[in-house]
Amino acid sequence: MALIVQKFGGTSVGSIDRIRNVAKRCIATQKAGNDVVVIVSAMSGETNRLLALAHEVTKVPEAREMDAIAATGEQVSAALTAMAIQNEGGRARSLLGHQVKILTDDAFTKARIKAIDGSKIFSTVQNGEIAVVAGFQGVDENGDITTLGRGGSDTSAVAVAAAIGADACEIFTDVDGVYTTDPNICPTARKIPKISYEEMLELASLGAKVLQIRSVEIAMKYGVPVHVRSSFSDAEGTWVKAEDKTLEDVVVAGVAYDKSEARVHLVGVADKPGVVAEIFSAIAEKNISVDMIIQNVSSSATGQADVTFTVAKTDLARGKPFIEETAKQVGASAVRYDEDIVKVSIVGLGMRSHAGVAAKMFRILAKENINIQAISTSEIKVSCLVAAKYTELAVRALHDGFGLDVPPKEG
Ligand code: ADP
Ligand code: ASP
Ligand code: MG
Repeated sequence: MALIVQKFGGTSVGSIDRIRNVAKRCIATQKAGNDVVVIVSAMSGETNRLLALAHEVTKVPEAREMDAIAATGEQVSAALTAMAIQNEGGRARSLLGHQVKILTDDAFTKARIKAIDGSKIFSTVQNGEIAVVAGFQGVDENGDITTLGRGGSDTSAVAVAAAIGADACEIFTDVDGVYTTDPNICPTARKIPKISYEEMLELASLGAKVLQIRSVEIAMKYGVPVHVRSSFSDAEGTWVKAEDKTLEDVVVAGVAYDKSEARVHLVGVADKPGVVAEIFSAIAEKNISVDMIIQNVSSSATGQADVTFTVAKTDLARGKPFIEETAKQVGASAVRYDEDIVKVSIVGLGMRSHAGVAAKMFRILAKENINIQAISTSEIKVSCLVAAKYTELAVRALHDGFGLDVPPKEG
């Protein structure tokens, strides 16, 4: 008998009919002789709806209350899924984050899991019931409800799988696996049969929302093999697992894009030691994470430089007052913001041993007349910041330009 964790995303539980399908699938898995733990997301669109309600009341809602409202989406789908299983003749019990309990820190809206108590899940499945756990949510030491960040039900699933020593962790979603890029914007995207934790981690952190980044970190840390697959078919999906030889052969494994960041431009700050440190220390103190940074030195005659950086759009409203205060302190003549940007990235373990990959990326973008506003690189990725209107064009050109439209040769 195996212990199986099955996670169903928002689209998969997006209507009562779909919840009934989920119920049938879980019962079939149980009837095949397995203990089943189901993790559910909120019904599609529900989390956005709840967050929008909060923003209707106030421009910058308190994070603790945001989590109290956001977590209700998963409470509804967990109870509906348990009922649907019962309605199909199965046995099930819904469990919320605090009932499990999934203990997190108190970083509301982006909490991290500290510990999971598996005992309630074990007693539920040992009793012959399917445990239906609400994804995305946890509880902190004070008993306050927390959430794990957008897409956090993936993390709930992998963390629960690790905590209870599950034999498999299946992520059921609206695409049938991890693709070479988002199949919804690139018609030539191909399903990848298996991908290393490292590459998946990089793709996820660069915007491929098919798996939340924390879920991949936890899978890698605890060696949980994750199977990403379609909730609408039985087709084999993508296995995310430890690197093996064949994965190294591909230079670029995938292309990702991320529209969640905004560009901040501090014009004419003093070009002297300590200024950049002052800017970014002040911003970090307010718990605002900065991603890309560039400094262009203007002519030495003026003794001034421009500093440009990107932050999460969701941090911008809260961050603007601090950014502007800091800008004043370092003598910036103006602060400009641009939210119409996208970061496009190429990712691949094979880049470690290949030169010229970044140059090729720049050539491909240049050929499409796409201006690059900022660049960042690591051993296994290159990212370029470009205007958001070029998202599809840039992704498709890079995808096909690096030959990802053609399946790699066997052997
Ligand atoms: P769920 O609600 O099931 O968690 P998400 O919407 O969070 O689903 O994630 C699935 C979506 O991720 C797909 O519909 C697709 O648009 C997007 N996506 C982005 N990059 C990729 C990729 N490389 N492979 C597959 N899907 C991707
Ligand atoms: N419902 C949450 C969200 O929309 C969590 C998830 O779906 O994974 O971000
Ligand atoms: Mg998701």
